[in-house]
Formats: sequence, structure tokens, C-alpha cells
Amino acid sequence: MIEPQITLPSRLSWSSVSTYSGCGQKWLLTRGFKIPQATWFATEGGKAVHEITEAIDRAALEGESLQAQYQMAHGFGRKFLQRIAELELEGIEVKPSGRKLKELGWTGGPNKKDRDWWLHYGPEMIGQWIEQSLALRAKGWKIATMPDGQMGIEVGFDITIEGVRLVGYIDRVYLLPDGSVLLLDLKTGAVSPDLQLLTYAVGSDAHYGLSADWGDFWTPSSDSPYGKLTQPIDVAQRPLQRLEKMYQQADRGIRAGVFLPSVSSMCAGCTVKEACWAVNGEESSKVPQTFTILDPQSGELVSV
Ligand code: SF4
Repeated sequence: MIEPQITLPSRLSWSSVSTYSGCGQKWLLTRGFKIPQATWFATEGGKAVHEITEAIDRAALEGESLQAQYQMAHGFGRKFLQRIAELELEGIEVKPSGRKLKELGWTGGPNKKDRDWWLHYGPEMIGQWIEQSLALRAKGWKIATMPDGQMGIEVGFDITIEGVRLVGYIDRVYLLPDGSVLLLDLKTGAVSPDLQLLTYAVGSDAHYGLSADWGDFWTPSSDSPYGKLTQPIDVAQRPLQRLEKMYQQADRGIRAGVFLPSVSSMCAGCTVKEACWAVNGEESSKVPQTFTILDPQSGELVSV
């Protein structure tokens, strides 16, 4: 049986609030009760791509050759397989996503986007990023130096908005030839809503005093050796104060124990559907209907 108590998170992130606003019940099951959930090859492949592209960009700044950068891309398989082996050892199921195709292709393969798919396309994605970075440098884009002296690669922020702590990592911060600042997020799967980039703009401003002008996503692509940049968003044109309110409202909802289910076609791919009462999950009777919420800062317990 699951203990009928959850602990309030000490901080929020884009990922956490995105889960909460997508389905409150999923947030409760995954981040409240911390029910073990399956993961996807895509999630783990994406993490390995992020780690290797970060190392490559740092090496490029130190003048590492293009050939050496491509050699680093070959480290993908080892990192990816090691992570999958660790998860399997922990008993966590790793599932393929994408489409079932006769042959390997960008959208899937004989067993969708499984281990083999990622071993094939992971290094290719990294290769596209290497080419994209080269093209951006040729256009005069530079990795920015943040006000605290660190380079604009995987820049962490930790800020407080009206009592709500918000943390995150910005994949890349670029200084463009006209002096403007662009925040870039690298995606190996679907592009997120603009709200993710706006969150990073708030983080950059509040933590570093560096105001972003633009936000953009980069994704690998089947029809370009450079991958693709999306249409950049003009940060100044967006209501950042409303975004800050979104985080405050999520915090209030979690504290008040508001965890509404959002039943939709997305439930079929939900990693905790077995534990979800709203879709009559087989394991849902093991999840407490009533529970307490502990605020670790004040020690206060609220019954829900
Ligand atoms: S199955 Fe649907 S309603 Fe239930 S937690 Fe998952 S996404 Fe939410």
C-alpha cells in the first residue's frame, strides 16, 4: 500500500508545472506518490544526446577540432546503453515510441523507436547539431558569457517569484551579431510550447540580470543535415508577468491538493495509467483516496 502522505516540492520547474497543468492526477501519482513509472527509449536517448552535445560545445569553445567533435558523437552508444542497462537493472520498463515501419526511418522502425533506432539515429542527431553549431558560428552567433563569467551552455537558474521557487537549465545562450540575446533549447522529440522558452527568459533575467530578446528551439530533421531551428519568439512581445502567475497558481493548486485528472486520448500512452482511478487502472485501488500534504518548511500537515 502506498503511504497516504505526499511532501510539497521544495521548488517547481517547467517540466513539473507542465505535467501539473496537463493532468493534475499524473502529477500526484508521479511527483506526489512517486509511483515508479516506465520510461521511453526516446527519453533516455534524448538525455544522452543532451549530455554529449554539451560536452562537444564545451570542447569546441576550447578549440577542439571538428574531427574530435565527431569522435565524441560516437560515445552516444556507450552512454545510452549504459543508462538503459541501469534502468533495466532497477526493474524499470523502457518502451519504444513512434511508428511501426518495415524499415528504420526517422519516424520509427520495425519495433518503433527502440534501442536499435536510437543507436542508429542518436549519433546522427549529434552530427546535425555539430553542423548546425558550425553554421551558427559562421553567421556570427557566439555562445554568450553570462554575467557571472560562465559560458552560456547548460545554464542553471534558481529564482523565487512571490515565494515560489523556480529552477531550470537553459541549454544554450547565444549572443547574436546585432547584440541581442537568444535562448536556445535543444529538442530530440516534439517541440514544447513557447512557455518553456519564456520560463527560461524569466530565469535568465531574475537570476543573472541578462534579458533575453529571443527564444528558439532546435530539432534534428529528416531533411536537413543541420537539423532545424524553429521560428524564434520575440520575448519582449510576450506577457511574462502572466507566466509568473501561472507558476504561482500551480503552487497554490498543489498546496491545496487540487489534482484533477485530464482524461483524453493521451491516457493511452500515460506511464501511470495503471494507478489512475479516472481510467479505472488495475492498480488504482492501491493509491490512497485521502492523504495528507506535508510542507517540509513549516512542518504543517494539510489533509486532502
Ligand atoms: S491516465 Fe490520463 S487521467 Fe490518468 S493520470 Fe494518466 S493522463 Fe491523467
